[in-house]
Amino acid sequence: MNLKNKKLIFKNKKLNNSNEALIIVVKYGVFGVLWIMLSDNIIEIFLDNLDAYKNLQTYKGWAFVFLTMILFYYLINNRDNRILNFSKNEIKTNEELNLYEEKLKHMAFYDSLTNLPNRAMFINEAKNLIDNNLGKSKFAMAYLDIDNFKYINDTLGHHVGNEFLIHISNALLDEVNDSDVVARLGGDEFAILLNNVDSEESLMQNLNKIKENISVTWDSHDHQFFITISIGAAIFPDQGSDITTLLKNSDIAMYVAKNEGKNKVMLYKESFEENTRNHINMVNKLQKGLENNEFTINCQNQYEISTGKIVGMEILVRWVHPLEGIIYPEEFIYLAEETGQIYILEQQIINLALAQKMKLEEEGFNNIKLSINISSKTLISDLQFSNLEKIFSSFDVDYSNIVIEITETAVLSNLELAVERLNILKSKGVKIALDDFGTGYSSITYLKNLPIDIIKLDRSYINSIPNDAVNTAIVKNVLNLAKDLNFIVIAEGIETNEQLNYLRNINCQIGQGYYFGMPLSTEDSLSIIRMI
Ligand code: C2E
Ligand code: CA
Ligand code: CA
Repeated sequence: MNLKNKKLIFKNKKLNNSNEALIIVVKYGVFGVLWIMLSDNIIEIFLDNLDAYKNLQTYKGWAFVFLTMILFYYLINNRDNRILNFSKNEIKTNEELNLYEEKLKHMAFYDSLTNLPNRAMFINEAKNLIDNNLGKSKFAMAYLDIDNFKYINDTLGHHVGNEFLIHISNALLDEVNDSDVVARLGGDEFAILLNNVDSEESLMQNLNKIKENISVTWDSHDHQFFITISIGAAIFPDQGSDITTLLKNSDIAMYVAKNEGKNKVMLYKESFEENTRNHINMVNKLQKGLENNEFTINCQNQYEISTGKIVGMEILVRWVHPLEGIIYPEEFIYLAEETGQIYILEQQIINLALAQKMKLEEEGFNNIKLSINISSKTLISDLQFSNLEKIFSSFDVDYSNIVIEITETAVLSNLELAVERLNILKSKGVKIALDDFGTGYSSITYLKNLPIDIIKLDRSYINSIPNDAVNTAIVKNVLNLAKDLNFIVIAEGIETNEQLNYLRNINCQIGQGYYFGMPLSTEDSLSIIRMI
């Protein structure tokens, strides 16, 4: 029953109540008239004697008074009871109404999943802070976004995704002071209003502490997820003196945190807006670059660690800009993925890479494996994957010496489809390498289910050999695990002899890195191969 209907019933009950007095008077009137009309007739039936009849008139008067007393008592008592019952009902209805209104209010201002304040409530609270606190103390607005939340949702379903969001909201509540407000703005976006901010430094310290405490492993349904979050913040009034600006600026700062590699806290700076402009310029520049064939490839050779023989090469894209010179992939790959320009770019790269493979074969280096990086977008897209297959069928090369490098996130965005696509590639003889191994958050779990042949151990692990005991132990364990599962391990980013010796001692098969050589042009890479 809706609120409007309840109010209608309520009104009708009041109307009935005002008619009660009239009903009593009418009932009394009817009784009086019947008494006058009938009482004499009834007495006449029983009495012939006129004197006795006259005497009885006095008793009849008494009887009338007595009977009307009973009648009034009955009618008034009846009416009182009904009023009492009605009042009870009225109180009950009022309570229900209040509850109902409370519920509506809750729905309008709180998120139903996490029970946190929602965007509307958050804006209200921020407004109150500005109205009541103007000029007295600073406060900050922080915008939080969970990195790679989509993968949890996509791989384990919305049910687990929801559990995760509840877990995060509780964890956030544990991290803030009572006077702060934590809200869920929608999806995997949360926001915090932090009161009494003393300085930018203390705010950053506080937010970094929140980030660190939230970034722990979350165990659910036999899966382990390593949570990271990106946070953007803006301080009132320095970085926004109204709600709209504060929201916009903390959002921009969060976006910058994502672009700078995620798992970061950023405080808004004016220069961020310039970044956005640069971003747009870069997209236009990329478009021109694609039209003018400004992209080329470099090859970084890969070595068998025990013998020092070149056994493969990784193809790495380079943008040779006519005015700016060489631009490295870290500056444009993420953008190309965001805009979809990666599709054309990868088609150009794969054509160049397979041409290099043909050259290798023409010179008799058939056994040198050639690795190509493929973005998640290409793997998952129906159209782009079929374009990739078309390019493959247009080159007559030995595909058993082609390696496709994919990252864990590429696979996790749609595990089932990714496995299906990787198997199609494998049916052509192609080998699959899992790139940047160790940087994702549930690596080991997926290893068994993925049709991969090679693990590329991320250079952050190799970097810390031998100083970081934990990472060094991880490298050792990954090698043992890889041996058990029949994977080949390639260590990326080897820069020192010390690292190489360590890897040799623990039987790592293949290495790649500046220690052996920088990525080179296709020609220079071939000349080195010809020399040995
Ligand atoms: P990645 O696939 O992990 O490639 C290895 C990166 O490490 C390369 O950077 C390489 O130059 C660099 N590197 C190699 N040895 C060392 C070393 O000893 N020390 C250090 N510090 N770095 C080393 P690059 O060429 O700048 O590529 C960066 C990333 O861009 C690649 O990381 C890959 O994710 C992406 N990328 C490069 N080419 C392509 C491509 O053709 N397609 C796609 N989708 N992504 C590409
Ligand atoms: Ca790679
Ligand atoms: Ca890598």
